[in-house]
Amino acid sequence: MKVAVYEGVRSIRFEDRPKPQAGAGEVVVQVKYCGICGTDIHAYMHEGILFPETVPGHETVGIIEEIGSGVEGFNIGDRVAVGAPGSCPEQCYYCRTGRPNLCVNGFGRTLGIGPGTQGAFAEYVLAKYPNRQLVRIPDNVRLEDAVLFDIFSTAYHGYRRSNFKAGNNVIVIGAGAIGLSVIQILKLSGAKNIVALDKSESKRRLAIEHGADLALDPGAEPKLKDNIKKLFNGLGADIVYECAGNPATVGIAVDLCRAGGEVILIGTNPEPLATINEIQIGLFELDLKGSFAYDDNELGTVLDFMSKGFIKTDGMVNKMLKLEEVKTALEELSETTEPVRYVISF
Ligand SMILES: [Zn+2]
Ligand SMILES: [Zn+2]
Repeated sequence: MKVAVYEGVRSIRFEDRPKPQAGAGEVVVQVKYCGICGTDIHAYMHEGILFPETVPGHETVGIIEEIGSGVEGFNIGDRVAVGAPGSCPEQCYYCRTGRPNLCVNGFGRTLGIGPGTQGAFAEYVLAKYPNRQLVRIPDNVRLEDAVLFDIFSTAYHGYRRSNFKAGNNVIVIGAGAIGLSVIQILKLSGAKNIVALDKSESKRRLAIEHGADLALDPGAEPKLKDNIKKLFNGLGADIVYECAGNPATVGIAVDLCRAGGEVILIGTNPEPLATINEIQIGLFELDLKGSFAYDDNELGTVLDFMSKGFIKTDGMVNKMLKLEEVKTALEELSETTEPVRYVISF
């Protein structure tokens, strides 16, 4: 089978490898689609995110091809999402205490993320922990929609990290893949006003289409804070969801949050954060919370949302490409943040 190997910054090599075989307790999945994640793009551009010799690709959907002895609950031909990060059979502290996305073994075993693992920039993947990694896709959900599970699950986890209540006024910074998903989930949950901030005009249009009440370019709004206050009963936002993963936008998030409100950091960036005055957090009792990945229950819920038509994927996949084109695609995506998602189709 053909695989694309990450060698280091701006270096991808293609090679042929033997197709994986399912040993006892393991499952082989034939990859149908794999999204190119922001993580893959960051790793392509910056050192220290992916380990050299890893085969990237963690936004994987496909069909079960082979089942090893002793595996229960799956059949050959089942359509599955390959996730979720975390959750270990050893039941580490985080798995025992209900936060499997923080599992101490999870990172290293996540296909396409863990050092040296083989993800889905390849025709087949091997699930060594199928009961933790594979989630069945409902029959009425198309695989080309299900491939967005990683985005929606990350957004859904960020939403669940917040103390959102119906009727809250919220701001979503960054209307890329995660931001658009957060907007949809907030709309579904009864947000009063959703304001999206993004510098891109096409993303602002998508934000409105996906449920935002107002979409603004923060760079073009010199009185942004005053205008937001006017809109939100003279206060700031109850909750700001930072989805841009841009060091500067975290400062904007803190600035636009009302006293006693919450800032949820869903976006990630390897660079240090913008300077935030401690007084902006302390004096106003802001709750600043990180959000990382998601767990298998959240992944399952997101697929159910898709099955019930609660969330839509319109306009989120900008390009389907072949595995051979992945290097060109990564080059392109390192130059622009305009596309929402490029997806490899097998
Ligand atoms: Zn991802
Ligand atoms: Zn664990």
